[in-house]
Amino acid sequence: MIRVDDRIGCSGCTACQSVCPHDAIEMKADAMGFRYPAVDMNLCVDCGLCEKVCDFVKPCADSPKAGFSVMVNAARHRDPASLASSQSGGTAAALAEMIISMGGAVYGAGINPDFTVSHSRAVTLEECESFKRSKYVQSDLSGVFRMVMKDLKDGMKVLFTGTPCQVAGLSSFIPESLKENLLLVDMVCHGVPSPAVWKDYVAFMARKGTISEIVFRNKDVGGWKMHNGTIRYSDGRIVVNNTFNVLFYKNIMFRPSCRVCPYHINNRKSDIIVSDFWGVGEILPEFDGPTGTSMVIANTHRGEEYIERLKDSLDMKQVELSDGFLMRRNPNLFRPTRMDKDCVNFERKYTERGFLYVARRWGDIGWRFKAWKLKVFVKNLLGIR
Ligand SMILES: Cc1cc2nc3c(=O)[nH]c(=O)nc-3n(C[C@H](O)[C@H](O)[C@H](O)COP(=O)(O)OP(=O)(O)OC[C@H]3O[C@@H](n4cnc5c(N)ncnc54)[C@H](O)[C@@H]3O)c2cc1C
Ligand code: SF4
Ligand code: SF4
Ligand code: SF4
Repeated sequence: MIRVDDRIGCSGCTACQSVCPHDAIEMKADAMGFRYPAVDMNLCVDCGLCEKVCDFVKPCADSPKAGFSVMVNAARHRDPASLASSQSGGTAAALAEMIISMGGAVYGAGINPDFTVSHSRAVTLEECESFKRSKYVQSDLSGVFRMVMKDLKDGMKVLFTGTPCQVAGLSSFIPESLKENLLLVDMVCHGVPSPAVWKDYVAFMARKGTISEIVFRNKDVGGWKMHNGTIRYSDGRIVVNNTFNVLFYKNIMFRPSCRVCPYHINNRKSDIIVSDFWGVGEILPEFDGPTGTSMVIANTHRGEEYIERLKDSLDMKQVELSDGFLMRRNPNLFRPTRMDKDCVNFERKYTERGFLYVARRWGDIGWRFKAWKLKVFVKNLLGIR
């Protein structure tokens, strides 16, 4: 049966829990809120299915060698409202619209009323709304893989969007015979932050009023290229706050598996990869601007077919990108994020001393951040790099 001795070797995809015919596996959260499988030995019959389904530890394809190039599409939703409410170019929304119009089901990550993040099922466009925009925290997949399996067995088309490890876990769980109606979409993934730190951050911000909406990266504040988080309170106030974003971009509170993420471009199990098209202005200036553009890569023939069908809803242009450009602009297509050297210390301090301590020490609250900003300002002033 599955045993996670070292947390670095488990992405929390839930495939092992979903496959267990005896419901012997529970996903239990650690102090950071990341879930790991725990086996109830009274129920387990040692059939080995859970070990077999785990994609994270399967042999990994070689990463691409220097000198390669990738055909990508720049894409932007033709409907300004869909574009405005999506994270980059609204490609995920256009795919969801297509699957819903075919009578299918869409699975994506949304923010719940209590501001936790989890995947759910949608069969109407209204239900798909909450999937739009990136939530920079690991989403809860409880029960979702079995729901996808049921929809496929019922003959429905299914779109699943998630991180590469979630997509790989689902792909490993679903038998080949049922995959014809399944469209898998993942993204270039920088890593997923801690759900526990997120929960504490929400509670911290709730001291200032009742929160009605949180946006991790709000295009309305400075445009697509800026990374401004916003909190809307029930009295109508909208506050820009980046305490959580600063910790996110410090690479200090990711799931341990993100340090060794095997899902580079050659090891993806998705049909389509979506991401922000960073640097699009250097290649296709007509796609640059504050509203956002997606980079869309077809990973399979099925992916290619679906991208072709998106031409009515997306303004698209194909372009070949060199490894040099992609490595510079979107390195997570090829390698995991390099974690901050303090990430183990962060977890220890967070567990011992709580959110406010780590937000003061590593976030933007308190004198350390102000001193760092002053240093950057002075360096820029003096032209020191
Ligand atoms: C944790 C995370 C890290 C990312 N890192 C990068 C990066 O390093 N470089 C880059 O170019 N792009 C990254 N992206 C992708 C990028 O932010 C956009 O999602 C992408 O450009 C697609 O934009 P869109 O407008 O088509 O759709 P969006 O409006 O972004 O929606 C895309 C889909 O993302 C899914 N989603 C949102 N949050 C989560 C989550 N927490 N877990 C699983 N699925 C989720 C939803 O199901 C939704 O359908 C990341 C996204 C996430 C969630
Ligand atoms: S990576 Fe997925 S399948 Fe493997 S142990 Fe973790 S939750 Fe289970
Ligand atoms: S070995 Fe079989 S019964 Fe035991 S936890 Fe794994 S899947 Fe379940
Ligand atoms: S970086 Fe890799 S392991 Fe971490 S969430 Fe993304 S795909 Fe999963």
